[in-house]
Amino acid sequence: MYQPAIETMPLDQLRTLQNARLRNVLHRMYEQIPFYRKVFDNLGLHPHDIRGVADLPKLPFTRKDDLRENYPYGLFAAPAEQIARIHASSGTTGKPTVVGYTQNDLHVFDEVVARSLVAAGARPGMKLHNAYGYGLFTGGLGMHGGATRLGMAVIPVSGGMTDRQLTILQDFGPEVICCTPSYAQTLADELHQRGIDPADLPVQYAILGAEPWTDTIRQQVEKGLQVTATNIYGLSEIIGPGVSQEAWDEQGTGSYVWEDHFFPEVVDKTTGQPLPYGEEGVLVFTTLTREGSPLLRYWTNDICSLQYDPHGGRTHIKMSDIRGRADDMLIIRGVNLFYTQVEEIINQVDYLTPNYRLIVRRAGTMDTVEVQVEVQAGANPDSQDLTDRLRKKIKNTIGLSMDITLMRPGSIPRSQGGKLGRVVDERNIS
Ligand code: ADP
Repeated sequence: MYQPAIETMPLDQLRTLQNARLRNVLHRMYEQIPFYRKVFDNLGLHPHDIRGVADLPKLPFTRKDDLRENYPYGLFAAPAEQIARIHASSGTTGKPTVVGYTQNDLHVFDEVVARSLVAAGARPGMKLHNAYGYGLFTGGLGMHGGATRLGMAVIPVSGGMTDRQLTILQDFGPEVICCTPSYAQTLADELHQRGIDPADLPVQYAILGAEPWTDTIRQQVEKGLQVTATNIYGLSEIIGPGVSQEAWDEQGTGSYVWEDHFFPEVVDKTTGQPLPYGEEGVLVFTTLTREGSPLLRYWTNDICSLQYDPHGGRTHIKMSDIRGRADDMLIIRGVNLFYTQVEEIINQVDYLTPNYRLIVRRAGTMDTVEVQVEVQAGANPDSQDLTDRLRKKIKNTIGLSMDITLMRPGSIPRSQGGKLGRVVDERNIS
């Protein structure tokens, strides 16, 4: 563990710490950000009415649109001369949102990423192949700072240029790699195609995040790169990567949320009411220590559940894997659908690979989904039996009939370095 005293802090102490930090940050918001002052004033409340995290449901959510309406610096809580860095979201869903970091925020960023790296299996003295994009996106610089803090050697490759990535993996001998899961698939594929045996590479751990992924991809990447792969989650609005991290020796049980800095809630998508642990809803974060751009009950739009794990090596709460963003949820003939649900099923059918995409179309008033999925090398892409098995499994599990198209290996677009769109929505194209 990077900070055992914090990572294993008894829950009552953690709550006391969170409550004190929350009171502090709320005062900062009220004093420094007119937007938040108005939020409190409109409710007839003052920060001193909020005693701790249990009172958070009395306060409204902050949404992406609030950040956009205050673009670029309207929600900053520190004077310009105290801002040490500015980042922006990737803009996957529209105009980017801008966030500012003070020196102390950067210190916290390094700390939570260092914690995440250790949880993922990294140790001081190891080399990190950092294939997250450097730039406005928080992935590259975020992982870089945390790895440096931990005492690793960072290889700042950034995303893309797959040939160069493979050379570095072979010649520089990194023990740890971080990138998006879809790009890890690309790297695994390319190694295989070039006949490079991953067992000959020193890389042992892969830290994958920035987009939803399931065990299906984990298995492909672990086999294809000969690594232990774990999930890292984050978003620029809260800090960047390192908001939560799955432990390498607790795979499949969720990711620890570093809740001494980021207080999580899961709420009902429609009513906004807090949901009990274990129930799936929208993930909401309140930053407890951010100085540059603190956020109150930020509506991430990401769907997951929260649960404490009595068997975990750490005390912080775990979040389940993100199924998708609420606005990425497809509603097909009345059935809610995340692409990760199809991904999970692909894994249960032999001879298929997790290289797939969904094409959504409208025929008259009916929405249809075509699943395009690559077969394994040597398998028959014209197999009716394989097509039928996948169609039946999807129908029985999700309750939707989908068109299945088996594709030859290598025919579906790959990640070129960043996030990969797995859904092509042709409904609004006339
Ligand atoms: P953008 O919203 O423009 O993509 P970011 O680059 O900050 O901006 O990305 C944050 C978003 O990426 C999260 O809100 C979430 O939707 C997604 N994300 C990040 N990490 C993961 C992960 N491990 N699993 C699933 N989704 C993730």
